[in-house]
Amino acid sequence: MKIGCPAEIKPQEYRVGLTPHAAREVVAHGHQVLVQAGAGLGAGFTDEDYTAAGAQIADSAAQIWAEAELIVKVKEPQAPERAQLSEGQLLFTYLHLAPDPDQTRDLLASGATCIAYETVTDARGGLPLLAPMSEVAGRLAPQMGAWALQKANGGRGVLMGGVPGVGPAQVVVLGGGVVGTHAARIAAGMGADVTVLDRSLPRLRQLDEAFGSLFKTRYSTEGSTTELVSGADMVIGAVLIPGAAAPKLVTRDGLRDMKPGAVLVDVAIDQGGCFETSRATTHDDPVYTVDGIQHYCVANMPGAVPRSSTLALGNATLPFLLALADKGWRTACAEDPHLRGGLNVHAGQLTNGAVAAALSLPA
Ligand code: NAD
Repeated sequence: MKIGCPAEIKPQEYRVGLTPHAAREVVAHGHQVLVQAGAGLGAGFTDEDYTAAGAQIADSAAQIWAEAELIVKVKEPQAPERAQLSEGQLLFTYLHLAPDPDQTRDLLASGATCIAYETVTDARGGLPLLAPMSEVAGRLAPQMGAWALQKANGGRGVLMGGVPGVGPAQVVVLGGGVVGTHAARIAAGMGADVTVLDRSLPRLRQLDEAFGSLFKTRYSTEGSTTELVSGADMVIGAVLIPGAAAPKLVTRDGLRDMKPGAVLVDVAIDQGGCFETSRATTHDDPVYTVDGIQHYCVANMPGAVPRSSTLALGNATLPFLLALADKGWRTACAEDPHLRGGLNVHAGQLTNGAVAAALSLPA
């Protein structure tokens, strides 16, 4: 099969859909790989890295959209890309169609088959192609929060790990899922005193068994949240209620009880944020202050570390990409119900019930 990887054109997107390592494996399976010149540069991969892996370099995105049978990307296709998608072509990327009727309309009209990373499932009920980005965002959260805690950046001037004779930063993590667990591990690794709150007791038990005394756990109620947030130097928002906007766990009034210069890192901002005062920011201008409290609310945190993010995403997508290329999407989806979960669009129809319901369209 001929597999194409165009450069991403969405502003501030430096990741790439195929790593040279993945290209090498795909070529070893007997497929042809076409990568747009410069597509990997934002993630630190040169055209030579791809040619050494057996890929060919295409001068333009147009060549890839015209020639490839399977197109692998990161972000949802932008309008100029959608205009080049053709009938029978297979697209494998993040789509997030539910809030995006314009994209949905174009994909349905294209006649292409579109498999969305975010609805591929795994045997444990997880989302294996979303998890790597949650891992990245979670591990990045304390790093960004620590920067915002520095005095020159508007923060309280507190060192995460303290020093001998001086206590560490108090870090509170709201939500102990993928983001929260990775955030807690890194914050604890930096020497902070970390507490994770979650509404799921089974999840708190798992964390306790897996991590012992590395960090503390508390059951999440309004009372426990208020108590811990008021004493925190940094609060990391990492809650998720599937299919719903994030609950507001800290109100504007609640900011008054916090220490001046404390930092809120709202990773859940892509679901509306879990602090009442959160609004989405960008990597160019990531932090703002409300009532003396620092807010870091970047909606695309993995974009700050495109090399690590590309490698993490590439590891997760590769087995599915190989299955699609080796077997064709029909057989691959028939044999693997989890990959079938990713099938969102085929022959002008929505093929994922939840996505269709969110858009009030037939499936
Ligand atoms: P997850 O489902 O693994 O974990 C969410 C956790 O929140 C669950 O354990 C759940 O029990 C808990 N929870 C729900 N309501 C709660 C409450 N009231 N109090 C305490 N805990 C509560 O989800 P995840 O993968 O960790 O993602 C967390 C959030 O981060 C999501 O909104 C996701 O979209 C977002 N995210 C953002 C970025 C970014 O760049 N900003 C990147 C990746 C993920």
